[in-house]
Amino acid sequence: MSELLDQLCIVMIQTSHPGNIGSAARAMKTMGIHDLRLVNPTRFNSPEVKALASGADDILANARLCSTLQEALADCHYVIGTSARSERSLRWPQMDARACGTWVAEHLPQQKIALVFGRERTGLTNEELEHCQALVHIPMAFDFFSLNIAAAIQIICYECMMAVRQSQTVQALSSTSDLDEEPATAAAMESFFTHLETTLIEVDYLDPENPRLLMRRLRRLFGRINPTQSEVNILRGMLSAFQGRKFTRRSNS
Ligand code: SAH
Repeated sequence: MSELLDQLCIVMIQTSHPGNIGSAARAMKTMGIHDLRLVNPTRFNSPEVKALASGADDILANARLCSTLQEALADCHYVIGTSARSERSLRWPQMDARACGTWVAEHLPQQKIALVFGRERTGLTNEELEHCQALVHIPMAFDFFSLNIAAAIQIICYECMMAVRQSQTVQALSSTSDLDEEPATAAAMESFFTHLETTLIEVDYLDPENPRLLMRRLRRLFGRINPTQSEVNILRGMLSAFQGRKFTRRSNS
């Protein structure tokens, strides 16, 4: 996950309160995001920066100081601005923080993505917004309010981290059945279902005169599992044992 999040950078423009830079570094570090770029911060060498970073010193030490937004974004492929207000959405595609996380998780492998945060009092200028391809707004209970900038960074970094985690869990789950083994073919599954049905009739579990939806439900169950060929062989071996017969690979039809 960390390599993926290395492709994400946080850009803060003209931050005036040094404590906010420290808190932002801490917020990033807790979510595994390390690349901080500061465009003309008002005071970066204040002890407050380090005090509020609370252990995120590496992020501060590696933070890139830039004199223009263009310089901060030079190596980025996609730029997402942040806004405390939602009415700007008319000019830029807008997402909430969760959708932003999902978008970032989907695109990080191919591109470097920047999230740009504005000044504490006035946010981003229209000229700066021109550099953004999309805007993210964290919905709040009141439209006339705004979040502290480090809190906004925390929420958006959290959503990005969670979305990356989730996509990796989904990938891991969908690849568990191909642990070096071929999934069973449709033909092998059909033979298995025939064998299963015959066995269930033989042991009087399935009434052929009144089968109800049993086979359909069992097909759905095994369809979800997506077994490998050798797992199907085990299942068929078990069915043969219930029938008092021996199942060999040659009887696999
Ligand atoms: N009055 C300013 C408030 C800026 S708050 C304005 O309306 O733009 C400072 C920065 O914190 C913003 O530029 C943005 O980067 C971030 N921020 C604050 N609240 C946010 C929210 N609800 N959604 C997204 N970003 C937010």
